[in-house]
Amino acid sequence: LGGSISRAIQQMSNATVIDEKALNDCLNEITRALLQSDVQFKLVRDMQTNIKKIVNLDDLAAGHNKRKIIQQAIFNELCKMLDPGKPSFAPKKGKTNVVMFVGLQGSGKTTTCTKYAYYHQKKGWKPALVCADTFRAGAFDQLKQNATKAKIPFYGSYTESDPVKIAVEGVERFKDENCDLIIVDTSGRHKQEASLFEEMRQVSEATRPDLVIFVMDSSIGQAAFDQAQAFRQSVAVGAVIITKMDGHAKGGGALSAVAATKSPVIFIGTGEHMDEFEVFDVKPFVSRLLGMGDLSGFMDKIKEVVPMDQQPELLQKLSEGNFTLRVMYEQFQNLLKMGPIGQVFSMLPGFSADLMPKGHEKEGQAKIKQLDNSNPKLMNESRMMRIARGSGRPVREVMELFEEYKRIAKAWSNMKGLGKMAKKGDMSS
Ligand code: GDP
Ligand code: MG
Repeated sequence: LGGSISRAIQQMSNATVIDEKALNDCLNEITRALLQSDVQFKLVRDMQTNIKKIVNLDDLAAGHNKRKIIQQAIFNELCKMLDPGKPSFAPKKGKTNVVMFVGLQGSGKTTTCTKYAYYHQKKGWKPALVCADTFRAGAFDQLKQNATKAKIPFYGSYTESDPVKIAVEGVERFKDENCDLIIVDTSGRHKQEASLFEEMRQVSEATRPDLVIFVMDSSIGQAAFDQAQAFRQSVAVGAVIITKMDGHAKGGGALSAVAATKSPVIFIGTGEHMDEFEVFDVKPFVSRLLGMGDLSGFMDKIKEVVPMDQQPELLQKLSEGNFTLRVMYEQFQNLLKMGPIGQVFSMLPGFSADLMPKGHEKEGQAKIKQLDNSNPKLMNESRMMRIARGSGRPVREVMELFEEYKRIAKAWSNMKGLGKMAKKGDMSS
């Protein structure tokens, strides 16, 4: 998505005359990209209408920075779409909080329950897990295993078949034990069946949760809106967590889930492991969607993972706007420590997460090396053919990579304020 949208804006800014047609072409291109990214059609249409209202063609004609104006308008619209206007219930440490997780089977509820508990435990909370999934064989074992690994107390049963009974017993038990975050994992069905919703309603009525979190798999495509809405109509969903953002992460579902539940996204899941879990933050998320990067997040991460003795030099390079492919190649192992490499790269302007999907790290590193060895000034068709032959990759792939490289280089050379940002986050002191 990021790639296509920034390309659309780029194309538009290259046009000599910015008239209504150029703007429409650009908006159509963006519409296509958003739809491909699973943003619901109605949302895309609304956004298009709003942007047309905001972007004043006379301003554009008067020579203001067209790319900036349009990019800003899109950025603002997407941010607005992700903000339901009211924050979700915030559990209070030291008090009793009951949080119930709902979502379809396989969406990642059980995994996310543990991540959520673990996240809070690290911050000094006393979480506990209750397995109210009596539908799926092995559900209790799975929760037990996760909880044990994270040293979190859990409750469940191999024999009891009434989820309401277990939920109530578990919540009572952990209230007595003064746990401040009691998390109830529920069952899900493959489909949005009436029996699932009835069970959810009953568990919710019996345990009176302070917060119901709807867990949604980011890869469900255009189904996101209807699914989220169906859950919201049955229980009082108050927050959303989007999982599997490490895959072919399409951010569009997040927009639909917020629109359908009128609740904010609070976390995203970025992997199967307990700590592959991030607080959701609207602006950096939208920045990444648009291929604008999230440099301050990037700087923070670098401080965490790059060895101290390498930091000053790397910072210097960054501040000179000189984060070249060679530097990137040299830092690849450190970048890997920052998280799924696609996610890391999507923090850099010009990159999009799908350039380097998870599980393809090796190829990614090879790609970078290959690109670095190719001086763009010397690049021509026969060189591309040679590189393709040498690396055993199709010529088309090399050409695509080269286009990607040019785009990235351009995005980086356009970066202003990077130096300032690098200095602000000075790591040498
Ligand atoms: P549930 O049926 O809703 O409880 O879903 P589970 O928690 O059992 O998860 C279903 C599958 O998705 C499991 O294989 C999880 O490891 C996997 N999963 C959950 N969250 C994520 C995530 O953020 N990223 C990835 N890659 N896999 C995930
Ligand atoms: Mg489960």
